Amino acid sequence: MDWHRIRSDFPVLDQQVHGHPLVYLDSAASSQKPRAVINTLSHYYERDNANVHRALHELSNRATEAFEAARKKVARFVGAASEDEIIFTRGTTEGINLVANTWGAQNLKAGDVILYTGMEHHSNLVPWQLLAQRTGATLKHIPVLDDGTLDPASIDTLLNEQVKLFAFVHISNSLGTINPAKELCARAKAVGAVTLLDGAQSVGHLPIDVQDLGCDFLVFSGHKMCAPTGIGGLYGRMELLERMLPWHGGGEMIAEVRLDGSTYKQPPHRFEAGTPDIAGVIGLGAAIDYLEAVGMENIHRHDANLSHYAVQQMREVPDIRILGPQSGPRGSLVAFHFDWAHPHDLVEFANSHGIAMRGGHHCTMPLMKRFKVPGTTRASFYFYNTIDEINRLVEVLHAARKFFT
Ligand code: PLP
Repeated sequence: MDWHRIRSDFPVLDQQVHGHPLVYLDSAASSQKPRAVINTLSHYYERDNANVHRALHELSNRATEAFEAARKKVARFVGAASEDEIIFTRGTTEGINLVANTWGAQNLKAGDVILYTGMEHHSNLVPWQLLAQRTGATLKHIPVLDDGTLDPASIDTLLNEQVKLFAFVHISNSLGTINPAKELCARAKAVGAVTLLDGAQSVGHLPIDVQDLGCDFLVFSGHKMCAPTGIGGLYGRMELLERMLPWHGGGEMIAEVRLDGSTYKQPPHRFEAGTPDIAGVIGLGAAIDYLEAVGMENIHRHDANLSHYAVQQMREVPDIRILGPQSGPRGSLVAFHFDWAHPHDLVEFANSHGIAMRGGHHCTMPLMKRFKVPGTTRASFYFYNTIDEINRLVEVLHAARKFFT
């Protein structure tokens, strides 16, 4: 693979920051966008812009065609049995809230258990907490071991017949841990629990096949996989979607509206009230075309090489504490802590050297408490990053140590 040529598809990367070439190591927060996606957005607005599904004129037809073609692309990309199992959302957060407010509100009652893990992003905690308040359901969590993996003994005891929903992250955005999603889904299924997989850090980073993984719901964000912000997806198994009531009411989600009540369309349209983010959806389709052209296996391999190299090199920086798995596979990010600098100070120092990273709790406050750190600094990678950039990061970490101690 010519990764340098692929990198040149991302115009934003070609700039100086504070007199240094930009090193963008914040893709876990949001990825950069290739020219193919940017051009698709301008083309849409310059040539095809119109509302979808509503009119018979040429522009609306073109917009609708591109919009529904994107749904097919997403379905293929995640291995769904049908494009009708794909609902467009604003992102992972909205997808989880949708499931909590539809499937959750309809199916949970007092005494039922919602199980999640100690490494969840706030967006996979708070919606379930709100749901538990409304329904009287009980919240339980699987603790995280020191090496950043889930405690197997707790899985054995907690994943039992009382669990109605098991919601867990595929790749932790704060540890890099890759959870054994297929095994966990199978175990949940064996006790009759529905599974929701948070794919915010996995979709777009490794090949995903929801049928092989065996999850009931999968949520993800377009902006973390080369697509625009404000668009994402929810996969739901049709058998569940068919029985779920709508969440938002309005135009486009109805079959018939009377003054005394309404009937609703079949999924997915039942869950897409109002005018959607048309350009975002079409941009998501373009991002998938782009990722598939590079190849998901290639992306996964490159990501894995970068994070493996980063862990090896960063270990050489004295006093570093790297969170998450110390060996073996990890997602394309490394979160770390030094006692001598607050993550925010370190991120500012790196920024003055042209390096973009993130510092703080990464929306995983319970995990920071678990590891007794105020927050961490996180370097996260994508296929447009290079080994040279990781070398620059390591140099800057050595310089920071001299500066702060
Ligand atoms: N889950 C994980 C693991 C994440 O990393 C993120 C974003 O950082 C989210 C959920 C929330 O995604 P969004 O803010 O795009 O809805």
